[in-house]
This record gives sequence, C-alpha cells and structure tokens, in this order.
Amino acid sequence: VQPNARPPENALTIDVEDWFHDGSRRLGPARPAEISSVGPRVERNLGALLDLLAENGTRATLFFLGEVARAHPALLLRARAEGHEIGCHGDQHLPVAERARSELLADLRRARESIADLIGDAPRGFRSPCFLRGPEDLWALEVISEVGFAYDSSYMPLRYRRGPVPLLAAHFGPVRLPTGLWEFPLPLTRIATGHVLPCAAGGFALRALPLSFTVRHIERFNRCVGPAVVYTHPWEIDPGSPKLPGTPAVVRAFNRLGRRGVADKLRQLVARFRFGSIAEVFADELGRSAPEHPGS
Ligand SMILES: [Zn+2]
Repeated sequence: VQPNARPPENALTIDVEDWFHDGSRRLGPARPAEISSVGPRVERNLGALLDLLAENGTRATLFFLGEVARAHPALLLRARAEGHEIGCHGDQHLPVAERARSELLADLRRARESIADLIGDAPRGFRSPCFLRGPEDLWALEVISEVGFAYDSSYMPLRYRRGPVPLLAAHFGPVRLPTGLWEFPLPLTRIATGHVLPCAAGGFALRALPLSFTVRHIERFNRCVGPAVVYTHPWEIDPGSPKLPGTPAVVRAFNRLGRRGVADKLRQLVARFRFGSIAEVFADELGRSAPEHPGS
C-alpha cells in the first residue's frame, strides 16, 4: 500500500472474537440462549475496525477464532482481500491452563483447518486465548509448533508485583524456540516503581489511560528493544458490548473502561506510527530457515 520499502515499525494485532467469548466467569462456553439474547456483534465491530485501518492503508494481523471464521466467513474474506494477515486464535476460547494437551491439539487443528478451508492457506501465526501468562503455560508452545504454526504471539507473563519476571530470554524481544517456532511476546516495560507491565501493548492501557501514555511507552520500547506487538479486540471499540450473566464485577468494570474512546485513539496511533502485520514487521525473522534445516 505504501511505496516505502522499510518494514513497519510496530505490529498491530486484533484477536477476533465476539462478546460472549469472554470466559472470565469460568463456566465454559456461553449457552446458545445466552448468545441469542443479544446476538453476535463481531461483524459490526470488526467491520468498523477494518474501515478505520483502510482510512490510511494500515495492515494488521487478525487472529480469528475458528468458531468466528465459520460463523462469519465474509468477515474473514474481507480482511484477507484488504491485505491483512490472517492468524488463528484457537477454536473455542479457553485458556491453556484449563486444557489437556490432547484437547488443545485437537482445538488448534480444527481452528487452523477451518481457516485454511475458507481462505485457501493455513495461517502461520497463533495467539492464545487469554495469552500465555507464565512459565506454567509454556508447554502449549510445543503443541502450537506441532500443529504447524511458524510463530506464536501470546507470551505476557503479568506480575502485578515488583521483582523478577519470567522472560523467555534475557530481553523483552522475539525468541526462537528449539522447535523452530518464533515467539513474538507482547511488549513488557520495566517502570520506575520496579513493576514490569504491558504499557506499550494496547488493551487496558490503550482503553483506560491517556493516549500519550501508550505513545510514550511504544517509543521507549522501540528505542530499547525493537518493534512492539500491540493488540486490541473488536469488543473494545463497542461501548454497548454486553457481558455474560455471572461475569465477575471486577472484570465488568475493567472491560467497560474507556471503550468509547478506543476507535479514535487507534486512529491517532496508526497515523502516528507505521503499523503493519506481524508477517511484515518480522519478515526477516520469519524468513530465516529453521535451526534443524540449515540452508533450506
Ligand atoms: Zn481472545
């Protein structure tokens, strides 16, 4: 889209799920009656995000939930036609901590095949539902590699206390694992109080804090580490997005914060930085041959 040959500075990612995929009430998937009481909203919300990105020709990586891809194939095909990278967000939206290895393997295969059936190509990238939150979740990376993904972008070891954070390497940047899988972690920043937080990652910080906070921390991450992987969700631009009955009050409160301003903040963010998909931003890394197959 841009004649500029330099790769984009930062990666923009969207986890494509609907309002009822929030599993924070820990009761498993939403029931059909609960979903139909409001109906799907992802088509409208992702459509608005795609319109926003089209305004200045920004491309992103869209991690589709298999279930959403099957229910809204036109959405997937539109995103693909507009040049966005299509990634995978699993099939059912359950955190890896609640899954057996065989169950996760079957879930990822089903999602990857559903997406490949619709667009003709298997997605190369994966984002875990609810992220990979620490060393206890890292077993999933072997499964993600086994299914055939070239990269994962899910590692966000949140610790809301000071002290050491379990990074995959001595730095906050990309890591290649022994299986050949690349991990492009969500950007963490060490702040003055000693806490390590995802200040440059989007999500809560983008919704609830002034835009200048996110801008400052993306610039700092770019200076100190490299490209940041920023994320958002379709529901984050939807002030009317509901919550399932039984969702904890604290989750409702946190998820409600700042939704009205997110679309405008995103518009300013993609005007300020050159954003692209993960495939574009990390083309060098993804183009390197796997360690097991030198020269291939
Ligand atoms: Zn998700």
